[in-house]
Amino acid sequence: MNAQTAKQALQGELPAGHKLKTGEEFKASLDDGRALWVGGKRIAKVFDDPALSAGVDLIASMFDDQFKPEFAEATTYVDESGTVASRSWQVPRTKEDLADRRKMIEYTSLKTAGTFGRPPDLAPAIAVGLLAYLPTFKAKKSLIEGCSPDFAENIEAYVAYGRDNNLTASESLTGPQNDRSSPKGAEASLLKVKSVEKGGIRVSGAKTVGSISAQANEIFFTNLGGIRETPAEACIWASVPINAEGIKLISREMVSHPGADPFDHPVARLGEEADQLIIFDNVFVPTDRIFNLGDPTAMSYYGPVCVFAHWHVLTRLAVKAELFVGAGQLVLDVLGTSNIPAVQGMLGEIIQYAQTLRAFVTAAEAMAKPTEGDVMAPDAGMLTAGRLYSIEHYPRIIHILQELCGQGLVMRFGKAAFDNPEIGHHLHDLLPGKGVSAEVKELLMNFIWDMTSSSLAGRVALFENVNASPAPRLRERLYNEVKRERFIEQVKTLAGMP
Ligand SMILES: Cc1cc2nc3c(=O)[nH]c(=O)nc-3n(C[C@H](O)[C@H](O)[C@H](O)COP(=O)(O)OP(=O)(O)OC[C@H]3O[C@@H](n4cnc5c(N)ncnc54)[C@H](O)[C@@H]3O)c2cc1C
Repeated sequence: MNAQTAKQALQGELPAGHKLKTGEEFKASLDDGRALWVGGKRIAKVFDDPALSAGVDLIASMFDDQFKPEFAEATTYVDESGTVASRSWQVPRTKEDLADRRKMIEYTSLKTAGTFGRPPDLAPAIAVGLLAYLPTFKAKKSLIEGCSPDFAENIEAYVAYGRDNNLTASESLTGPQNDRSSPKGAEASLLKVKSVEKGGIRVSGAKTVGSISAQANEIFFTNLGGIRETPAEACIWASVPINAEGIKLISREMVSHPGADPFDHPVARLGEEADQLIIFDNVFVPTDRIFNLGDPTAMSYYGPVCVFAHWHVLTRLAVKAELFVGAGQLVLDVLGTSNIPAVQGMLGEIIQYAQTLRAFVTAAEAMAKPTEGDVMAPDAGMLTAGRLYSIEHYPRIIHILQELCGQGLVMRFGKAAFDNPEIGHHLHDLLPGKGVSAEVKELLMNFIWDMTSSSLAGRVALFENVNASPAPRLRERLYNEVKRERFIEQVKTLAGMP
């Protein structure tokens, strides 16, 4: 059943056609000659590395799901022209739209068990963030002589282009790590305009940890942090195809277990979103893909523009927290520890974490307000507080889940051992859980290992800690973001202060 008929079945509508890619079409779109290095070696195609390839397969299955009736509501919507499109590119205009768009975030989070922080619907949230401030970008002018795009027109066209082509993108806002005390360190790698030519500009420099870049169609970039005053030629928001001439992707070491038996690594066998160092060597950026050029005041829009991406991050963490609750309860059930008050208390702490994250997401949506560009934006202060809470508690929640498992998380033997006629029967006899076989008990432990203790889990934990600003910066944001005049007045009144 295609998406059109899936939607018809769900909503009784007859939308005309669709703007969706199949998984195969998505994979074909990545076979574009991109310059990619893994383990120090150039690979011809992203599919040539097993971990990247498995990750691509997982993303491709999300494209295929768009055509299945059971996922149509979460993954697709009917756009302004009456055509079915990916929810990734939906522009929320009302609180109901926000709740609908969240279904897509919850879907991609569950699909990857929260291990992909940059699934295909994340980067569109940044493009939508630019759209939310269209009047501001309309008023801004390029400060680079010889190239004067209409930023607002470009933003609108880009969101339409992404929606019409079911586009995936990575986003890189951060610069490579080097000597943070010296402006020279940051400047050496800073992505800057090198020249202006007919139809666009040329940029050189580097971006970093562009998670999923090798597995996406485009890279959406700007410069943030590392330098106090961004020079005009480095003030840029833009997007280019990943295979643009002059882009080199250097992948970090892979951490997943692609091709592993599903029993041994139920999550890590699905591959990973790999992080890349992205070199821009005289890359051409067409005028119509430029959303800011040369204006430092536009760079201060990072917080407001990224609010939808930050809402995505927090929602994904809430979904993952609920998976931790489910996994924890199953551990209590199969180990027979659920009647021990101290154990109940440990699970209670994970439940508190999950409930709190949901509460932050709910509150951010309830307090949402339309932006100047008439996009419904979740409350930034509530999101920042929620994200800070989520990353501060994440290591402890992982530790509690490990604690609940006891030796089970270490004493895992794998499918081959269970199938071995000489030793398998010992495992079957000695290791059953409460009401479940030894194999079922180990499968649960293998899942929790992948989620909490594997090399994949290690990368994910580091990702959660800093991917959308580390805790010290989030505290600073809270100080600057959350209005407190009312609280001050209350204290003054109670204390009798003038
Ligand atoms: C696995 C992974 C994936 C990521 N994916 C993406 C991505 O897809 N796109 C993207 O744009 N970014 C991504 N990030 C990058 C993330 O945005 C940065 O890691 C983050 O902004 C912190 O910058 P930094 O790592 O360069 O830290 P550094 O600037 O090198 O600083 C190191 C530490 O010093 C402290 N510190 C430094 N400066 C300050 C300050 N001004 N105030 C308070 N504390 C400070 C912080 O504790 C910080 O962690 C990813 C990061 C990781 C680890």
